Amino acid sequence: MNYYSTKDKNLRVSLKEAVLHGLAEDKGLFMPVIIPVLPATFFFEMSRKKFHEIAFEVALVLFGEDIPKRELKDLTFEAINFETPLVQVHDNIYSLELFHGPTLAFKDIGARYMARMLKYFTKNYDREIHVLVATSGDTGSAVANGFLGVPGIHVHILYPKGQVSFLQEKQFTTLGENITALEVEGSFDDCQRLVKEAFINHEINEKLTLTSANSINIARLLPQSFYYFNAYRQLWDKSRKVTISVPSGNFGNLTAGIIAQHMGLPVSQFIASTNINDVVPEYLTTGEYHPRPSLTTIANAMDVGDPSNFARILALYSNSHRKIAADILGYSYTDDEIRSAITSVYRKYKYLLDPHGATAYMAVNAFLEMNPDHTGIFLETAHPAKFSDTVEECIGKKFEIPKKLAGFIEKEKKSIPVSWKFEEFKEYLMNQA
Ligand SMILES: *Cc1c(COP(=O)(O)O)cnc(C)c1O
Repeated sequence: MNYYSTKDKNLRVSLKEAVLHGLAEDKGLFMPVIIPVLPATFFFEMSRKKFHEIAFEVALVLFGEDIPKRELKDLTFEAINFETPLVQVHDNIYSLELFHGPTLAFKDIGARYMARMLKYFTKNYDREIHVLVATSGDTGSAVANGFLGVPGIHVHILYPKGQVSFLQEKQFTTLGENITALEVEGSFDDCQRLVKEAFINHEINEKLTLTSANSINIARLLPQSFYYFNAYRQLWDKSRKVTISVPSGNFGNLTAGIIAQHMGLPVSQFIASTNINDVVPEYLTTGEYHPRPSLTTIANAMDVGDPSNFARILALYSNSHRKIAADILGYSYTDDEIRSAITSVYRKYKYLLDPHGATAYMAVNAFLEMNPDHTGIFLETAHPAKFSDTVEECIGKKFEIPKKLAGFIEKEKKSIPVSWKFEEFKEYLMNQA
């Protein structure tokens, strides 16, 4: 299958090119030319299957023309090695827990899949592939853990010294193997600038094969559709209408859900849930899109003022606001509302929300009050322990840190200090060859 650029439908590339380049030449995002539809038998037989088997069947219709079946199966089974349980919170509201991967965040799924797809497409390269990532926190840990131990690929993570949380830093500085953390004397913008300069530097590119692993890569986006099918598989009563609420920042997660729906997943309604960074909910009600600088909130992985995947949503609906607004409802919440949802859901139902999932819970709860014939699913995108300061304050007590996180804390941090000067970073990279 080919992929087009959201800036020009006629600019088309193969899956391999889309994965290796990330972004189209004209800076548009890649989208599949055709969204394949799954056969009815897939839905009849799904309840007997496991998540990785469901994922493989979806992967086959998406990537089956480009990757031989045997290899696609291996890479899918390797990447999808943890469950995404659907847990009833109360009445007809269910939480799809996407935080059972290595860094306890939903980004693990896309990152693990992309790492293996990149390995597949570069397996005949005689040189090692160097992945450069600038991170302000969470992306770095998901990417690092996704690529950990993948042969032929070395990941270099640049992060601003003293500006990521203790836990986040531990999650990407303690891994070793093919992951190197570079502690930059500077800001996140400096990290991004260093990476960008490296990509256009002639000398470096002569010596090294560089690639990025940013969130807009199609190999991170499309595998996120897998867990929407896995949610539906676990629904006991499939005769009711289904509404899915997605806590959104860059809108990759929601875009993947809409793609799953286009592939045949019976979803009646999507909800885009945000914190006060509400450019998309505003667009859904007014038809006007006004990107603006992001505001800081307690659901900080969604502090985005100009979501990168919005262009993909527009492309899916041929820029029709009417069609988009018919399929997607928008809700946004303040920090105080998020805190009180965490408190009350814990008190009433003994279920712990994280600040991101809390926005999605509130939205689906409000929707179901008006539409009691629907079953509501909200996506829990991170384990509450990742935001323990906020969550413990809301519930008034401490809770145990999960083993996976505790494991990172015990390990020793290893990082290489670099300055904000490009020459130093360049010297470091040249020594990798
Ligand atoms: C990245 C992230 C989001 C936002 O996902 P998008 O695909 O960017 O909309 C939501 N919650 C958590 C915990 C995240 O890390």
